[in-house]
Amino acid sequence: MITISGKSVFGGVSIGKLLFYQRNSKVIKRTHIDDVDAEWKRFQEAKDTAVDQLKGLYEKALADVGEANAMIFEIHQMMLEDLDYLESIENIIRTQEVNAEYAVATTADNFAQMFAAMDDAYMQGRAADVKDVSERVLDILSGADTGLKEMKEPCIIAADDLAPSETVQLDKSKVLGFATQYGSSNSHTAILARTMNIPAIIGMGEELLKEYSGRDAIIDGFTGTLYIDPDEETLKAMQEKREKDLEQKALLEQLKGKENVTKSGQKINVYANIGNVSDLGAVLKNDAGGIGLFRSEFLYLENTDFPTEEQQFSVYKQVAESMAGKKVIIRTLDIGADKQVDYFGLDKEDNPALGYRAIRICLTRPEIFKTQLRALYRAAMFGNISIMFPMIISVNEVLRIKEIIAEVKEELKNEGIPYKEDVELGIMIETPASVMVSRELAKEVDFFSVGTNDLTQYTLAIDRQNSKLDEFYDPHHPAVLAMIKMAAENAHAEGAWIGICGELGADLELTEEFLKMGLDELSVSPSMVLPLRKRIRECE
Ligand code: PEP
Ligand code: MG
Repeated sequence: MITISGKSVFGGVSIGKLLFYQRNSKVIKRTHIDDVDAEWKRFQEAKDTAVDQLKGLYEKALADVGEANAMIFEIHQMMLEDLDYLESIENIIRTQEVNAEYAVATTADNFAQMFAAMDDAYMQGRAADVKDVSERVLDILSGADTGLKEMKEPCIIAADDLAPSETVQLDKSKVLGFATQYGSSNSHTAILARTMNIPAIIGMGEELLKEYSGRDAIIDGFTGTLYIDPDEETLKAMQEKREKDLEQKALLEQLKGKENVTKSGQKINVYANIGNVSDLGAVLKNDAGGIGLFRSEFLYLENTDFPTEEQQFSVYKQVAESMAGKKVIIRTLDIGADKQVDYFGLDKEDNPALGYRAIRICLTRPEIFKTQLRALYRAAMFGNISIMFPMIISVNEVLRIKEIIAEVKEELKNEGIPYKEDVELGIMIETPASVMVSRELAKEVDFFSVGTNDLTQYTLAIDRQNSKLDEFYDPHHPAVLAMIKMAAENAHAEGAWIGICGELGADLELTEEFLKMGLDELSVSPSMVLPLRKRIRECE
């Protein structure tokens, strides 16, 4: 038996096979080829395999999600058969006498640039598609495989680290747990693990070897331990621990339907954070009073092109309707930093966390922002939707947002499209600047929601993605707590309400302090709703 320790990001015990996620190497080497005919043939075979895979995906998508959503795989097949695309690849192989991988990668880059430079938004979106199909061919040529396609039974996923875009692609019904070599507890992958309610361990280091793929494993998310080839004794102990955990969870069930109230009668709203419609089940199951943060950017991360107004409208409407009148706070897209989406065509930045992200993208590319706002104002007719804006640093930004909202409403009105006139508006408090001007900001909005993940990173100057800084990362730092207190006082002084939607809201050691600060709401992963309710009810 092999025992490896890491840092737990979500408790629970999982038992199953380990599968090591292999990230494909994106470094394409240019090598000289003597037999260009054979190389061209090698490419054609890879292309045929890719077309077959796409046909299979089309059939699966057709059955699972309908024709409109399956279409993308037909478009991808057509791209691979496109004569210009094929001619470019053949020409590079023959005239430069180089390997097929290099010819495919170069053609993909050239075509993507060409599409991106077109005026038409639809054609611009094809840039990501041509890269996507080319990646498929490159994977086949290099024999690379993430291993996930073979995942027939639920597995414990191991990886060096997982980007949010990779995590969202996993078939969640087949993930028993995560174990990663790197990563930090505030990364979006850790947040996803908590939302999905599955045991996860990060920061296991180099001891977590690729060779362990396929072997029996156990994740103990309580102690942050991974066992490979567990012996009988450990297996038995872990099975018992798992049973106990399930019993504990059953006990919490008894708190369903009960109020979030302290012994002295102070009440607080407990809402849940989601990233996807598929998380709604967990929200309802755990009896959350509403949705305090819907990270709408996951809609963009899951797509290969900008989600249309109709696509967004139907998702927001579904969430609002499912919550049946309970509050649903939808945050406008927070792309950038670790949440990268190819089709946004964002430049590489030296300091992405301090860069072009979130509201900064929305205010400089209003066409993207307006599409989302139109969908939100329309969907607000179907439930209790509030809109929240991320990464705010100034009153001017809020005023500019309001101007854009006024334009959106005017357009909808002129087009005769129904929308809700008065939607509650709030901002995230996740920059020290927003805390310092919170009194002025509170005059402009209905509510604040403190994003402690970013607020902590910007206050302590500690990259939330960098696991090497974990020893310096103090989520209970007095500076962070003082900022939350200051924002709360200023919100209340101007008649606005305030909650926390960052991970700190679920820190049960701080619940009492948050109650003392007079916070109105805490929004946490669905799995933390009942433990938090229990803690609140124990407080004086
Ligand atoms: C936060 O920063 O605390 C937050 C809730 O937003 P995200 O984690 O998505 O950046
Ligand atoms: Mg944030």
